[in-house]
Amino acid sequence: MSDPVILFAARPERWATYEAPLRTALAKAGVSDSGLVLQAAPETVDYIVYAPNSEVQDFTPYTRLKAVLNLWAGVEQVVGNETLRVPLARMVDSGLTDGMVEWCVGHVLRHHLGMDVHIHGQDGIWRNGEVPPLARDRNVVVFGLGALGRAVAEALVGLGFNVSGWARSEKRIDGVSCFAGDDGLAAALERAEIAVLLLPDTPATTDLFHAETLAQMPHGAVIVNPGRGPLIDDTALLAALHTGKIGHATLDVFRVEPLPADDPFWAHPNVTVTPHIASETRADTASEVIAENIRRGEAGEPFLHLVDREAGY
Ligand code: NAP
Repeated sequence: MSDPVILFAARPERWATYEAPLRTALAKAGVSDSGLVLQAAPETVDYIVYAPNSEVQDFTPYTRLKAVLNLWAGVEQVVGNETLRVPLARMVDSGLTDGMVEWCVGHVLRHHLGMDVHIHGQDGIWRNGEVPPLARDRNVVVFGLGALGRAVAEALVGLGFNVSGWARSEKRIDGVSCFAGDDGLAAALERAEIAVLLLPDTPATTDLFHAETLAQMPHGAVIVNPGRGPLIDDTALLAALHTGKIGHATLDVFRVEPLPADDPFWAHPNVTVTPHIASETRADTASEVIAENIRRGEAGEPFLHLVDREAGY
């Protein structure tokens, strides 16, 4: 059997970051790296290591393609591509997960402890009336209990928070009260003093946080959204921030990115904007996942982390 041709189709500048880790991981997985390339005749390509912002948008010429291996956890920009007729794997990477856990825990702790009062309020007055509460007295709900949400929920449990979670299907996670589907949504919203959104962007999750669902959250609730911008109806969020129903929103993702300079979120006193940096795929650990999937493809074994094209994630 000839060595597989593996096309790296991402922004060209990513090649410098990924080439060495991919070659190392392929060798470790027992797969030849001789076919790992930045450019190839489409009809020769077996696997595409893929970023949805690459130049490859029409998969039709890739006639012998066995799988597309996404470098990103989110697949909303590729899942509906009708020219893609082979398995699509999304990225589940321990480095990406670790980064997301750290970012979410940091932002949850910021709001839980009320750190802003002291960071922004240093005015020479000794206000020692309020000591921060304990995690066990704080209800945090993680919306989305997949690779990332589950890890975040477990880390928050480890810190002592009162953690709940919500997903499409029933889950059992130690220490986490799990709710599922439409029937479980109200119960999850009601206890979300701090809500962490780690849902994918699909037709079923678009505008999930709209005027009525925001109204079901506790008064002054905090939203931390590293998931995707379209999960939130922005107009409804601004209205809920105005009334104080939502106390603060920390937003890492937006409908339009980069967030336009005149977007009201930038200047809002109760919004923290971060520029889609919550986490990212880490080349060393991600390369191992990609190499393992190529090994599986070559051995005729099932691929890991396949996207359900119908569900959109
Ligand atoms: P995942 O493993 O596919 O998990 C998705 C979770 O969402 C699952 O628990 C799923 O439920 C749940 N879900 C999906 N549709 C739902 C619905 N209609 N109702 C209720 N629950 C629903 O994804 P992941 O790897 O954890 O990543 C989550 C998202 O994080 C990605 O899609 C991406 O948008 C975002 N992300 C952001 C960054 C960043 O830097 N900001 C980085 C990486 C990823 P089931 O378990 O029942 O299927």
